[in-house]
Amino acid sequence: MSTVRTRFAPSPTGYLHVGGARTALFNWLYARHTGGTFILRIEDTDQARSTEQSVQAIFDALKWLDIDWDEGPFYQSDRLNLYNDYIDRLVAQGHAYYCTCTPDEIEAMRERARATGAKPRYDGTCREKGLPLSEGAVVRFKSPVMGTTVIEDVVKGHIVFANDELDDFVLRRSDGMPTYNFAAVVDDVSMEITTIIRGDDHIMNTPKQILLYQALGRPLPVFAHVPMVLGNDRTRMSKRHGATSVTAYRDMGLLPEAFINFLARLGWSYGDQEFFTRQELIEKFSLDRVGKSAGIFDAVKLNALNADHIQAARPADLVRHLKPFLESESWDTQDEAYIKGVIATLQTRSKTLKEMAMQARFYFETDVAYDEQAAKKFLKPNVLEPLKHLKEQLAALTTFDEKAIEQVFVQLMETFQIKLGKIAQPVRVALTGTSVSPGIFEIITVLGQARVVARLEKALGYIARH
Ligand code: GLU
Repeated sequence: MSTVRTRFAPSPTGYLHVGGARTALFNWLYARHTGGTFILRIEDTDQARSTEQSVQAIFDALKWLDIDWDEGPFYQSDRLNLYNDYIDRLVAQGHAYYCTCTPDEIEAMRERARATGAKPRYDGTCREKGLPLSEGAVVRFKSPVMGTTVIEDVVKGHIVFANDELDDFVLRRSDGMPTYNFAAVVDDVSMEITTIIRGDDHIMNTPKQILLYQALGRPLPVFAHVPMVLGNDRTRMSKRHGATSVTAYRDMGLLPEAFINFLARLGWSYGDQEFFTRQELIEKFSLDRVGKSAGIFDAVKLNALNADHIQAARPADLVRHLKPFLESESWDTQDEAYIKGVIATLQTRSKTLKEMAMQARFYFETDVAYDEQAAKKFLKPNVLEPLKHLKEQLAALTTFDEKAIEQVFVQLMETFQIKLGKIAQPVRVALTGTSVSPGIFEIITVLGQARVVARLEKALGYIARH
């Protein structure tokens, strides 16, 4: 068992977006690759912005992607006592202090700094006062005023920050809630996280977090800051580039396997390989192959990967993913073996599950509606006799498989001296309502004897009436 421990720590302030899902995936893949542990932590200390609905949306998205966690979900809002214990320790050790400066005073400090061209910052008024805890006081970290803080980032390399760039940042707000930087470090320390993989929008937080690790006397984790996901015009991924919410891709008919393949390739590569199964990703994922340049969200590539994954999947594995699309049409999905058969005929023809469901319409509708032109062209009196014969022969079969069905057609062609082309289209229209479908023997086999006979019967009636 490896000692690698990673975590995904979303703030539940909206749905899970593409960048967040990629962060979750990289942490999960790394844990699975190393035989380590993956932890889910909900960072919900921003009470005004966190919602139960967002927590649910995050769970839904992770569930869809089949990203499972070994520990958690832990909620930061349940852990306030722990953060307070750490505050007491840091204050007692002289690493933190109470500050009673009012928001107006702080604004005035910032104003003064700006006036001299300096970076707006807290000026240290309460730093050496040794104030006791009081109502409404915040707790600040006593940042070193000299020296440097260095990040050794697996992706970004060696980054040096001058400590005088950092002010005495707040650890606990006046309402008693911990700040992100503080709560994240307490959690990462107490959950013994060894490897922190996250978006590089957090790089400015990292020196503060490193200083906190040092104040707590704890060894640093490995940091891997992954470049942001950009749209195809190289601006930050936004709604303009496609849906940003992960579950929107589920609803469009993407396969989770395709989506995680796509996410993995947003910032990670393995030679020229584009197609990866989940298992291959687990086997091949490593941090040294995470690139320095931003991942570009390419919707065309995503759709192509989706078609490839649909084609490569076993029909049995697609059933549960296709079912919701069939159910949204109110079709009967009880018979999973039937759905499996349907999928086998359509998986090379569908780019999305949604498209597959549309192509499957004729398999599920109890009464097939004819496309007017197709019916006019193919359901004509000259095929009445052959169709009748076909119906009778198919109805008489005791073994209804592709071989037996093909045999019936061979005899039919002989008896009526017609080519397959002449009879296949009328049969197709009779069975599907249209002139485009998977192979005729395949659809007959999948539809099954009862449906096929009933549909041929209906077509015979139609021809007789027209
Ligand atoms: N809650 C932070 C976020 O959602 C977590 C950042 C981190 O991984 O430390 O961005």
